[in-house]
Amino acid sequence: MSGQTAADPDCIFCRIVRGELPSRRVFEDPDMIAFHDIKPIAPVHFLIIPRQHLVSLAECDEAHAPLLGRMLAKAGVLAREQGLGGGFRTIINTGRGGGQEVYHLHVHIVGGSRPLGAMLPREG
Ligand code: AMP
Ligand code: ZN
Repeated sequence: MSGQTAADPDCIFCRIVRGELPSRRVFEDPDMIAFHDIKPIAPVHFLIIPRQHLVSLAECDEAHAPLLGRMLAKAGVLAREQGLGGGFRTIINTGRGGGQEVYHLHVHIVGGSRPLGAMLPREG
């Protein structure tokens, strides 16, 4: 599969998966882990990542559909557990143009004390 190796020794999220870097975990199972973002942009901000090193959504294909489905299916459950029963925002930044900084696929779950506004300003 393209964009995938078992692990990347230099990837910080692979290092978190292996326990070499600390994280404040909110969930883990054989497929994925979830942990709080180190620089939260809202009162609640955590990430869901696959244990396997997938670079980004751009490298995913049909073969990844079960894994991606399981990650998204966990989002609502974990969000509610973290106090986001009123709603949350789900963000997947992809590639340089998408503002991705860590090249190990991750889903941001963001929410907090007040409703979030529209995400992007309209152009023109
Ligand atoms: P992105 O721009 O989607 O690639 O975002 C990467 C996210 O990873 C940012 O929100 C960072 O704050 C977060 N991050 C980077 N290093 C760590 C870390 N060691 N533990 C938790 N979150 C991290
Ligand atoms: Zn990785």
